[in-house]
Amino acid sequence: MPFLQGEKVSKYFGGIAALSELDFEVREGEILGLIGANGAGKTTLFNIISGVYNSSAGTVKLAGQTINGLKPYQICRKGIGRTFQIVKTFRNLTVLKNVMVGSLFGTERAKSLLSAEQEAGDILNFVGLADRDNVPAQALTLADRKRLELARALSTEPRLLLLDEVLAGLNPSETLKAMKLVERIRQEKGITVFMIEHVMKALMGLSDRVIVLHHGKKIAQGTPREVANDPRVIEAYLGSPGVA
Ligand code: ATP
Repeated sequence: MPFLQGEKVSKYFGGIAALSELDFEVREGEILGLIGANGAGKTTLFNIISGVYNSSAGTVKLAGQTINGLKPYQICRKGIGRTFQIVKTFRNLTVLKNVMVGSLFGTERAKSLLSAEQEAGDILNFVGLADRDNVPAQALTLADRKRLELARALSTEPRLLLLDEVLAGLNPSETLKAMKLVERIRQEKGITVFMIEHVMKALMGLSDRVIVLHHGKKIAQGTPREVANDPRVIEAYLGSPGVA
């Protein structure tokens, strides 16, 4: 049974089909990439999986259980965490408190402030932000805010993490560090990762498999090499052959 499975998932905004009868699966333990040109439907798919939008049609199942129709906090507590394309931290709260919020409210386990603080500290250590724990989130650089966004998602104890362009806007050395962090999230924490990314080299290097969307439809899926050499993908998205 796939870890996460979508069957004929569609989403309409007025007359626009942002997603159209999309079948997809996420396998436990993999890093799955999601690519497609602007407006292809990538963020809409994440919004449906995480309960921000209801699908217009189709079903999404987590470990065989239907989750579409649930509220975002219910889906979060079932083990699906996410980051946002535009970083959504609590700007005036300290880095530590930002992570504590996820730790306290993102899981079903009741916990004390003290244990939430300890867990948040461990997560900040893991993402490399421990030395910034008392700084307000708004004082962080973009790269650190992105790490904080990851820390907040991790604090909800996800089994599946949806990452929406965590590398966007980073310079090459920050990109490399962020890629290592994503790999460690899978490797050391055993979390399955489904990631949208426009930084093609990074995505192709990190992903076990890639799904390609075009105008709300899946036009290809496979290993990064298979996808990069697929004529439909080259025509619709990559523009020139031999990107892998
Ligand atoms: P990008 O790479 O630019 O983030 P994307 O692949 O994530 O693009 P979506 O944001 O999912 O694309 O958008 C898919 C389509 O749905 C676009 O045509 C977009 O304009 C439309 N759309 C998305 N959200 C809404 C909304 N809330 N209301 C109306 N139309 C929307």
